[in-house]
Amino acid sequence: MDHLPIFLDVKGKTIIVDGGGTPAARRAERALNAGAKVSVFCPNLSAEFDTLLMNANLTYFPRAPEQSDFIDCVVAYGATEMDDRDEALYKMAKHANVLVNIADVTHYCDFITPSVVDRSPLVIAVSSGGNAPIIARILRARIEVMLPAAYGRLTKFVGGFRETVMAKLKTTDQRRHFWENTIEGQVGDFFLAGNPEAAGIRLMEDLNIAAAQSDTPQMGEVYLVGAGPGDSDLLTFKALRLMQRADVVLYDRLVSPEIMTLVRRDAERVNVGKAPRQHTMVQEDITQMMVTLAKQGKRVLRLKGGDPFIFGRGGEELEELAANSVPFQVIPGITAASGCASYAGIPLTHRDHAQSCVLITAHGKDGVLDLDWNSLINPAQTVVVYMGLGSLDILSQQFLKHGLDPATPAAVIDNGTRSNQQVVTGTISDIHQKVVNSAIKGPALIIIGSVVTLRDELRWFTESDKSDHKMTLHAQETL
Ligand code: SAH
Repeated sequence: MDHLPIFLDVKGKTIIVDGGGTPAARRAERALNAGAKVSVFCPNLSAEFDTLLMNANLTYFPRAPEQSDFIDCVVAYGATEMDDRDEALYKMAKHANVLVNIADVTHYCDFITPSVVDRSPLVIAVSSGGNAPIIARILRARIEVMLPAAYGRLTKFVGGFRETVMAKLKTTDQRRHFWENTIEGQVGDFFLAGNPEAAGIRLMEDLNIAAAQSDTPQMGEVYLVGAGPGDSDLLTFKALRLMQRADVVLYDRLVSPEIMTLVRRDAERVNVGKAPRQHTMVQEDITQMMVTLAKQGKRVLRLKGGDPFIFGRGGEELEELAANSVPFQVIPGITAASGCASYAGIPLTHRDHAQSCVLITAHGKDGVLDLDWNSLINPAQTVVVYMGLGSLDILSQQFLKHGLDPATPAAVIDNGTRSNQQVVTGTISDIHQKVVNSAIKGPALIIIGSVVTLRDELRWFTESDKSDHKMTLHAQETL
């Protein structure tokens, strides 16, 4: 993050606006809306100021600003588009220790002006860090459409109960859970449907119930959520909603950093893939931790790569939760096989190539793979191998030994769906050597079967919006 987002209280304080055109008028207007006293400097104001001039908080000076004008000033805007004047304003502001922003002159800006969605008292500010204001404006427009105007009134309504709730519910967690249930539950529904009286009655009823229960420890809940293979756009809406509600998150090594940024900022984070001193936490400890936290009344987010029920040990965790009477919800995620196959342009089934697809795991133990080879050697079937990178050598040898055609196509997809996705293709005979020669480090998925050949036709379309991937693919092909 290049800038610190804050909302400044400027009520009754002076803001200088130097300029008389449209950008100056917009800045003056926004400052007036926030309750500031605005001093506008310019010999000739545009017609846009006609209504603003009627505002008692605006003072007009038909001259350039001077150092003495900066007394009691908190912010200065320059919007004259005159280099000398911008520079002079910047220097005077610095001398007076006042935050300054000169329109379109980055090196004269202490802060940037965001695009704003105003549902006062709810305000959303969007910034592109000065890189692409147009993107901030497009996003602002989308948010405008998403947010009914009533949200502003709902915010005010909720604000009216804040102190009452503070007095009745003692801990921050209790208050947060109460507000989440209230706003996303019937109270919010009543209010947004235009019935504030019913919303108020319901809110007080819910509050009294919550207050009566506040001294007895409440049972929390576990959300077992599939985070998909990496690209955060592949999360489900439900996953995102629960990620925003969690008090504590237990996450795996496979959950991408991009996805972790979407978890509620204040949620406690426990990396159970790499616990302190880099030891992986054993499964029993993870499950025990979930049970303990839930019994403390926490909302526990168990975030897993891909889908929790596909080689994710989700079933074992749930058995333990059920045995301890801990309530839970399971949210499926896109498993690595679907994600990697789609992003690499390899359909897992295809009328002309494969009528079935099996997902297997190839954890090698003492150089032996305990697999049902007879069911795997089938030219009309795609085999997808999870956790197989380390044993790719013996895996391919065993496939050949058990009679798979040496020319059977195979692909290895590394970091599938992520910006650093790499794909190596070959045959079951040479795929291991090709991977050894590549920069692949995992997590990686192996796909075996004739569907792999379809990639040549499809990848440019499936990857057309990922120019980085194209470059990676070119690089791989020269190996
Ligand atoms: N529950 C997960 C799988 C966990 S097992 C799911 O449904 O996807 C871990 C294995 O999944 C890794 O060893 C690798 O084979 C595969 N995997 C997970 N994410 C991947 C990714 N982004 N790219 C390639 N393989 C991935």
